[in-house]
Amino acid sequence: MEQAVMMRGRMVHFASGETQLQRYGRDDSEVIWSVHRGRLNIVMLDAAEAAGARIHFNRRIDGVDFERRTLELVDDHARSRFCEPFELLVGADGAGSAVRRAMDAVAPLGERIEPLGHDYKELEIPPGSDGSFMLEANALHIWPRGGYMSIALPNTERSFTVTLFLPTHPPEGEPAPDSGPVASFQTIPTVADARALFDRDFPDLLPLLPDFDRDFVDNPTSGLSTLYLDRWCHGDVAVLLGDAAHAMVPFHGQGMNCAFEDCVSLADKLCDDGLCDTGEALAAFEAERRPNAEAIQRMALENYVEMRDRVDDADFLLQRALERVLADRHPGVFVPRYAMVSFTLVPYATAFARGQVQRGILVELTRGVERLEDVDLDRADALVAERLVPLDAA
Ligand SMILES: Cc1cc2nc3c(=O)[nH]c(=O)nc-3n(C[C@H](O)[C@H](O)[C@H](O)COP(=O)(O)OP(=O)(O)OC[C@H]3O[C@@H](n4cnc5c(N)ncnc54)[C@H](O)[C@@H]3O)c2cc1C
Repeated sequence: MEQAVMMRGRMVHFASGETQLQRYGRDDSEVIWSVHRGRLNIVMLDAAEAAGARIHFNRRIDGVDFERRTLELVDDHARSRFCEPFELLVGADGAGSAVRRAMDAVAPLGERIEPLGHDYKELEIPPGSDGSFMLEANALHIWPRGGYMSIALPNTERSFTVTLFLPTHPPEGEPAPDSGPVASFQTIPTVADARALFDRDFPDLLPLLPDFDRDFVDNPTSGLSTLYLDRWCHGDVAVLLGDAAHAMVPFHGQGMNCAFEDCVSLADKLCDDGLCDTGEALAAFEAERRPNAEAIQRMALENYVEMRDRVDDADFLLQRALERVLADRHPGVFVPRYAMVSFTLVPYATAFARGQVQRGILVELTRGVERLEDVDLDRADALVAERLVPLDAA
């Protein structure tokens, strides 16, 4: 936690220049945290070593012989290639997994990769000249602009990592704006084009980015996709987890959390005496985690639309306000989906299903209503009682 900065909610930066904090939870017990990725990796490596793991750097898996249970490894530094035996292979090697490729080659996994059609690029807001944060520190900042957005997350060294999300190509059939470039990575090939876009769409953000030109050129533009597989296991020999099994778009901030939940589930199943052998344990792991991974993949896609397009929309804000009221009136029963995903260990699939029911209730109660005071709360109570059981009984 020493490496983390608390984020109480979304600080929305409207096109008008006004800002508004939309809290994630009820109070400071329901917040999310921004953690430096590199430092988190070091904490994890230290914990793994302390638990008895041996870590080998610069050894890349390049092939797997599942029959003989051997890995083919490449050391790119020493330019050498060698084999290592294994008992059980856990492919936690990320979205471009070499283990997945090897598994797919011997028995197809039903791989489907759906590109989002939007890419991202990171930029940086350094600390001010007095060493302070240049924006409110305890918030996730969003500049929603309809089909695209920028966000900024605080770091412990008082900088912010900014991420620009834009369509890869110009949206089809949309007329070019009167001023500045169309918002897509394809239509801003030069720094001057990118500056023109920021000047028009993020004029309050641009002055906070002193190294804009350098960052824009040096930092890669990276793609975003969702990966779906029909199978994660190869008998009792190999299993995939984390991004290797279910890479997702980053808009719920849950990719890593989902990977951690995979680890807990896999460890439980491997230690479960009720399961006869490793093959059964791997199958039970996949049966438990795959529906949950699919649910958070879907919620992550939905959250992109919410972040870039809905956080400044009147209907959405009314539904959010009502959601709070219902959460207070029915604690443990009407729990906002974001809270279930972010502040509890409720399985993602349960959060998704209950979220659908709750969304239905909110839409029904706010139809034709403009102000929170005009919502019929007796009807709201009746709908909650009729459609939701307490979360701990679900
Ligand atoms: C822009 C962005 C923002 C994100 N924000 C969040 C967030 O806020 N919260 C969150 O929970 N998640 C977030 N995520 C998702 C998160 O980064 C991933 O879900 C998470 O890193 C997945 O962990 P992993 O261990 O499965 O894979 P990775 O972190 O990709 O790790 C894979 C490892 O395997 C190694 N490897 C790769 N190939 C080989 C090979 N051939 N041989 C040996 N080793 C290999 C790599 O070096 C790496 O160490 C974000 C992702 C993106 C792109």
